[in-house]
Amino acid sequence: MSESWNKRTQAVHGGIRRSQYNEVSEAIFLTQGFVYDNAEQAEARFIESGPDEFIYARYGNPTVSMFEQRIAALEGGEDAFAAASGMAAVNGALSSMLKAGDHVVSAKALFGSCLYILENILCRYGVEVTFVDGTDLAAWEAAIRPDTKAVFFESMSNPTLEVIDIAAVSKLAHAVDAVVIVDNVFSTPVFSRAIEQGADVVVYSATKHIDGQGRALGGVIIGTKDFIRGTVEPYMKHTGGALSPFSAWIMVKGLETMALRVNAQTETAQKIAEALENHPALERMLYPGLKTHAQNALVQSQLGGKGGTVLSLDIKGGKAGAFAFLNALTIPVISNNLGDAKSIATHPATTTHQRLSDEQRDALGITPGLIRLSLGLEDADDLLADLKQALAASQG
Ligand SMILES: *Cc1c(COP(=O)(O)O)cnc(C)c1O
Repeated sequence: MSESWNKRTQAVHGGIRRSQYNEVSEAIFLTQGFVYDNAEQAEARFIESGPDEFIYARYGNPTVSMFEQRIAALEGGEDAFAAASGMAAVNGALSSMLKAGDHVVSAKALFGSCLYILENILCRYGVEVTFVDGTDLAAWEAAIRPDTKAVFFESMSNPTLEVIDIAAVSKLAHAVDAVVIVDNVFSTPVFSRAIEQGADVVVYSATKHIDGQGRALGGVIIGTKDFIRGTVEPYMKHTGGALSPFSAWIMVKGLETMALRVNAQTETAQKIAEALENHPALERMLYPGLKTHAQNALVQSQLGGKGGTVLSLDIKGGKAGAFAFLNALTIPVISNNLGDAKSIATHPATTTHQRLSDEQRDALGITPGLIRLSLGLEDADDLLADLKQALAASQG
């Protein structure tokens, strides 16, 4: 094991634990519990368990630990706690550290379920949340108060792909000792340097690029050893959001190929964004990798110029145009995941963001014609040809 390994090596070997059989591929420890040699050992383990001593799969499991240690090494965090889904991770990161009377500042452009936690759940427990335009540093500065305990944002927002300046927001938050929690799904662990850039806690939905093949739900919280073991673990292990060992195995194996997949998908997204940017059937093309993207300078400094695997298209003709486009596609499937090997097209206004009011959608730029397109591993020219015929069909 070496902390000096580069990401590609960590992704393949990080966190590995071998059983007495010395298997090559990581084992799935599909067990809820563990046998103690004697009563004294059981007692000792409940007082304090070492890194290779397990009690119950809700608390921890060897396959789950392999995933936690591999993603922590990849992300440059000290430790990680795996969760049953991305939302269990987001909720765990926030709820484990907040209490009544605390104040949180959050970007307002959020994935629907993240918004639900911040807008509808935390307030029930007496936590006050102020929402800001995440791209506006002056708004963060105005909203962060001496009693602000945490700031939360998606480093690249879903589905309008606004990019938030991790280093600048972290600096403002750290001035009042607030914890910076970043939902980093769209930036991917491949392009992320969020912890190095100032984030204290990074959260992923592993359902997206980490699995990358649409098989399982999962999530993970990455941070300091103190935060993960002292704050997150007690909350997660008693509230039941544990990742199953089988799903953890899918995620561990997913990490091995993630960089290859995400780089190839990003290359395709860039190529398609450039080819379709000025297409007459489009009101707008949103892709962070385009020079015309409002935050392209930040994409250069924060993400090494990589725009990620998702682009958003605003199709002329509103909902009718968007539906005609979706129904004409032959390669991308109509669904709502992203980061998958299969290209996936989503109409946020009627699905992922349906719950929002018209005013909320307007404020977030989720127009009736907006399509979120996650690029997969298909041939880029096949995809481009399919998108072009669907764009033509969208205009009747
Ligand atoms: C998908 C997603 C989540 C939730 O993840 P699940 O695994 O579906 O629970 C949270 N945040 C963002 C940005 C996402 O895209």
